[in-house]
Amino acid sequence: MADPQKDLKKLKPSREFFIGIDSDGCAFDTMEIKHKECFCPSVIKYFGLQAVSKYAREAFEFVNLYSRERGKNRFPALISMLDLLRERPEIKARKVKVPELKRLRKWIKEETRLGNGALKKVVQTTNDPELKQALMWSEDVNARIADMVHGVPPFPFVRECLKKAASKADMMVVSQTPIEALTREWQEHGIDRFIRVIAGQEHGTKTEHIALAARDKYPSEKILMIGDAIGDLKAATDNEALFFPILPGKEEMSWKRLFEEGLERFFDNAFKGEYEDTLRREFETALPEGPSWR
Ligand SMILES: [Mg+2]
Repeated sequence: MADPQKDLKKLKPSREFFIGIDSDGCAFDTMEIKHKECFCPSVIKYFGLQAVSKYAREAFEFVNLYSRERGKNRFPALISMLDLLRERPEIKARKVKVPELKRLRKWIKEETRLGNGALKKVVQTTNDPELKQALMWSEDVNARIADMVHGVPPFPFVRECLKKAASKADMMVVSQTPIEALTREWQEHGIDRFIRVIAGQEHGTKTEHIALAARDKYPSEKILMIGDAIGDLKAATDNEALFFPILPGKEEMSWKRLFEEGLERFFDNAFKGEYEDTLRREFETALPEGPSWR
């Protein structure tokens, strides 16, 4: 199989600046529909949580939408959700066994490209039933998303921001979603023409995406990551790049702010320092560490 990271490595700057943009929950309002209508029902089905579906849903939504883990790759997020669920007294009272997925944990630790392709390879060589189940779940999720998620446009001001930045910055989608889904969504709404390349879960972590595509190619104060999750912030910080948050629940306001002041500040070298610090603080407050039921 060709090395998908090659696409990122071979990118050469054609503009002075670089902008990485997360897709789910950042450019597109797809987090809610994907997680609530596609991922969550599939988790309940494949991991035998029918008897505690209400709590499974609560744990799932907290981890994936409303916590510091928002936007995490589906496999580690699944582990977090099951761990959170297992500790609840309601689950213990019902004597429901929440799977531990020890083999999947091991795979997550060893593999950096946490996608169906890599998992499929391990399943083929080991024939491990637990990994097979995880793969079936993950494939089912993709099928549900392809079936369910249509006609969800980018947030207001996304297109305007892309248009505004296009003459000054090389732009790339930085996401943990499969490339196939990303390509479909960016094409469906005609905004793929603003970006150089789409980096998905097959390309490795978001930190790797920026490292391979932008780091050491642009000065660090000319690299900006736009995201809605802590993983996006980490990808920026790991690469000493700048970060602009799209606040969960205040997405429209955030994109408007980027359009009206953020982009100008970035291009005028007036982003780093007080302005960025304030944005980062607002962002960290918006995503709590522990759930409300604890
Ligand atoms: Mg996101």
